[in-house]
Amino acid sequence: MGRIVCAQCERPEASCWCEKLCVLCQSQLDVHLCTDGLLYCEACRTACDYKRANV
Ligand SMILES: [Zn+2]
Ligand SMILES: [Zn+2]
Repeated sequence: MGRIVCAQCERPEASCWCEKLCVLCQSQLDVHLCTDGLLYCEACRTACDYKRANV
C-alpha cells in the first residue's frame, strides 16, 4: 500500500491542514484520515469499518 494522502490537499495526515470534518456526518469528534483519503469521525469509522491511514 502506498502512502495515503488527503483527497483534498494531497498531503499526508501529519501535514494536512484541511478542516477536520467527517465527510459523512460533519462531526469534528476524533476525525482522522482513512485509507480512502477521506476524513471520518470515530463513530463513522467504527460503523463502516474504515481503517485509519497512519497508525
Ligand atoms: Zn487535507
Ligand atoms: Zn462521521
